[in-house]
Amino acid sequence: MNDLIEAVEGYTCPAQRALRHLDAFLADPMCGQCFPCALGTYEARARLESMTRGEGTDDDVRVLERIAAAVLEGSKCRKGKDAARFLAEAIATPGFGEHAAGVCRDRECRSLTTYAVASDICVRCGACKAACVNDAIFGEPQQAFRAGYPAFEIRQRRCERCGECAAACPHGALRATDVALTGGRSR
Ligand code: SF4
Ligand code: SF4
Ligand code: SF4
Repeated sequence: MNDLIEAVEGYTCPAQRALRHLDAFLADPMCGQCFPCALGTYEARARLESMTRGEGTDDDVRVLERIAAAVLEGSKCRKGKDAARFLAEAIATPGFGEHAAGVCRDRECRSLTTYAVASDICVRCGACKAACVNDAIFGEPQQAFRAGYPAFEIRQRRCERCGECAAACPHGALRATDVALTGGRSR
């Protein structure tokens, strides 16, 4: 039980929480006594993974709801019923269904999130560049005696969407947006 709780610690996105909870559930050997649990949890895991990758659909949400109900009803043990309840609660959480439209409001599904520098706010301090371990940010820190600096920007092909740069920016100039709104990675 502790493993299941630890698996979701630090996550607020309901799709990530459901996926990680099922991962921990399935990490133990499956006893397979109840068909809904034995089959449904694997199917649910595959659909959740698809949703966190940005490939989920409204059909996935509906199927996940049916799986959660079937596992809850058809499970003999408390572990199976608890897994079903956790899944059902995650699906009912605001923001879960938005994954089918390519939106992770918690910014924890990397495939659904992209980062960009707001050039009108950026003061070119360089803190984001120093925080990026993937060397994905280009730009030169401002120096008093020089002018004509290009704006800092993120090379999307190198970006792993970890969010460290946004956390490091002291001016809130690094914004997370939905990949669905930007049309995907461009550079
Ligand atoms: S509900 Fe419990 S007893 Fe049934 S298959 Fe799942 S883990 Fe086994
Ligand atoms: S999100 Fe992560 S990888 Fe992407 S630019 Fe920011 S720090 Fe670098
Ligand atoms: S940390 Fe923020 S203000 Fe500083 S260079 Fe990066 S985006 Fe601009």
